[in-house]
Amino acid sequence: MTVAITPDSLMWIAHRPDIVFTEGEGSWLRDRDGKRYLDFVQGWAVNSLGHCPPQMRDALAAQAAKLVSVSPAFYNEPAMQLAQLLAQHSGLDKVFFTSTGAEANEGAIKLARKWGRMHRGGAFEIITFDNSFHGRTLATMSASGKPGWDSLFAPQVPGFPKAQLNDINSVEALITDNTVAVMLEPVQGEAGVIPATYEFMQALRELTTVRGLLLVVDEVQSGMGRCSALFAHQLSGIRPDIMTLGKGLGGGVPLGALLAREEVCCFEAGDQGGTYNGNPLMTAVGLAVLDTIAEPAFLAHIDARAAQLAAGLQRLVERHGLIGERGEGLLRALVLPGDVGADIVSRARELAPEGLLLNAPRPNLLRFMPALNVSETEVEQMLEMLDELLARVG
Ligand SMILES: *Cc1c(COP(=O)(O)O)cnc(C)c1O
Repeated sequence: MTVAITPDSLMWIAHRPDIVFTEGEGSWLRDRDGKRYLDFVQGWAVNSLGHCPPQMRDALAAQAAKLVSVSPAFYNEPAMQLAQLLAQHSGLDKVFFTSTGAEANEGAIKLARKWGRMHRGGAFEIITFDNSFHGRTLATMSASGKPGWDSLFAPQVPGFPKAQLNDINSVEALITDNTVAVMLEPVQGEAGVIPATYEFMQALRELTTVRGLLLVVDEVQSGMGRCSALFAHQLSGIRPDIMTLGKGLGGGVPLGALLAREEVCCFEAGDQGGTYNGNPLMTAVGLAVLDTIAEPAFLAHIDARAAQLAAGLQRLVERHGLIGERGEGLLRALVLPGDVGADIVSRARELAPEGLLLNAPRPNLLRFMPALNVSETEVEQMLEMLDELLARVG
């Protein structure tokens, strides 16, 4: 007897469209009825090389045939190699691998608190920002500045006062003897693609250095080429003390990382760990992804597609009387004149014969997170589909 495959046994966590995806290739997905979708969400900026890229399939197959898991209590080659490469590209010294972005941020928070205990007289507060997003564990939800999250699952983890992005005085005003670090996304993603300005990043680096505080950048969404530079903070010419990665690093497999300057690394045996940290199967994929993205020609491709996307969105702004477009690299947003984001997202899915996947992180905003190797034709096709949708909604 065959039993129909239904979602009935999945725990309810969100409204999900009545679509079941079965296959993906590059920028395209196919559902179980055979309909194709152009994907400008890519697992939330996760599939940096698109769906099922050959590099990932090869790395997975080769590593799966050699070694899948040995526990972080032992060394393995892919983890050591990927750590070396990440250190080299970031200018940071040490790497701790995780499975998710939230877990990398938890590690960053623990490292900063431990450092504060050892070097700053027990200082533990980490200044974060209104509307920021750092993950869904209790501590990272507390660090996040998402409206409403301060009371959801109360009580919060204490120690995360909130400043305003791009307002250096709001940061300075929160510094006390208890402050140990400032943590931010170089481009706020879930808030609606809001870049920290060059001047703000420079001022923040200066302020934290002068006051003896750690600067932590959460590059879970903005890192790994998403914003044209390998890491978005490099656009403002600063070096952080701690950086976290996730999403695009694994290109679709669960892999995150916590990177830090040597002087900050103060974990003692037993302070930090986890069953899957530095799993060879995941780090082998991370290596294949990083090898591809870090190529200068690949970063130049991201730049070219980003310029094409930005110019195309700007044309739509003018043609349809929208508010504007913004972003860095291939993390972009279109600001709409009203709260029609969700409406456009669902109409985009329903387009025929081919659908389009978009995301609306805010009611009046569309976000674009295509594969970093998206083609010129695919960007053009997305813009044409969006043009048609905007004409209908407007
Ligand atoms: C997605 C995201 C996270 C959380 O990553 P998970 O892998 O979902 O835990 C943290 N910070 C930022 C900036 C993100 O975009």
